[in-house]
Amino acid sequence: MLPLPFEYTRLPTIDEALAAVGEDGEGMFYSGGTELLLAMKMRVIHTERLVDIKGIAGLDGIMLNDADEIEIGARCTHNRIAGDALIQEHVPALSALCADVANIRVRSVGTIGGNLCFGEPHADPPTMLAVLDARLVLQGLGGIRSVPADEFIQGELETVRAPNELLTTIVFPRPSGSVTYRRFKHGERPSVNVAMAWSLAERNTIIASARIRVGALSFRPQALTAVEDALRGRSIVEARCAVAEALPAALDALDVNADRHGGADYKRHLAGVLLQRNLDDALGGGRS
Ligand SMILES: Cc1cc2nc3c(=O)[nH]c(=O)nc-3n(C[C@H](O)[C@H](O)[C@H](O)COP(=O)(O)OP(=O)(O)OC[C@H]3O[C@@H](n4cnc5c(N)ncnc54)[C@H](O)[C@@H]3O)c2cc1C
Repeated sequence: MLPLPFEYTRLPTIDEALAAVGEDGEGMFYSGGTELLLAMKMRVIHTERLVDIKGIAGLDGIMLNDADEIEIGARCTHNRIAGDALIQEHVPALSALCADVANIRVRSVGTIGGNLCFGEPHADPPTMLAVLDARLVLQGLGGIRSVPADEFIQGELETVRAPNELLTTIVFPRPSGSVTYRRFKHGERPSVNVAMAWSLAERNTIIASARIRVGALSFRPQALTAVEDALRGRSIVEARCAVAEALPAALDALDVNADRHGGADYKRHLAGVLLQRNLDDALGGGRS
């Protein structure tokens, strides 16, 4: 099917792009187009005006800022992030994640910003960015605000971003400990994924902080709070026992949508297995 007729415009600055999308969001930002054009062709989405943001300078950089945070421009493609030396050095698990998203065509043109703004529940970056405690910087006609990654996705294909706000940057503290990520997929998108980040203290023997997020079970990544609490303050030799004790109740407490990727019990089981594999990676110094 072909999309309904629309106007196309490519603009060189954020201000011009915001103005073209309009105060009421009658236009839509067009980045890589890998989700948007598909949805327009299927006539699930229609807009009168596509505002192409590919020509805006400064949205595809990756840098370490003065506050020791990593900044990723929203226009960075999955391939760009996968191959970036800074990401490979400080967050190799994010580099590996991006190298394995979708297929080569989508990785070459699809962007991290488009992935987040589309709000598809079966996605990889939202889980990882939530575990990294990232904030997403949104620019609108009225100014700039930032939203924690944990709060960005509000429902299926629904985010807190107003239609006339542009996601410009993703920012997170440079990780000081282990960051791991595991996913399971039947097709191109993840059925379930789990990310874990922890930092160690007292000569790397005690778990000082722990964050765990499970993604794709429902519409947005969820914290495994009981397991995080069980790990914090424990020695790393106790980590497996701490997880084994807290995991069953923590999995039961998660919201799970049964869908074409599997039933609720199956997806909960996968989440448990993927967490154990994250733990193996973190303890064994494996994939991190
Ligand atoms: C076959 C296939 C397989 C896939 N597999 C995976 C997978 O395994 N894991 C995974 O995580 N994802 C997967 N994806 C999703 C993929 O990551 C996204 O399609 C891609 O990242 C979207 O980026 P884009 O630049 O093409 O967005 P677009 O299609 O251009 O835009 C998507 C939406 O976001 C809005 N938007 C885009 N950029 C911005 C911005 N900067 N600010 C505000 N709004 C913006 C657009 O208006 C639109 O509503 C898959 C997609 C396909 C088609």
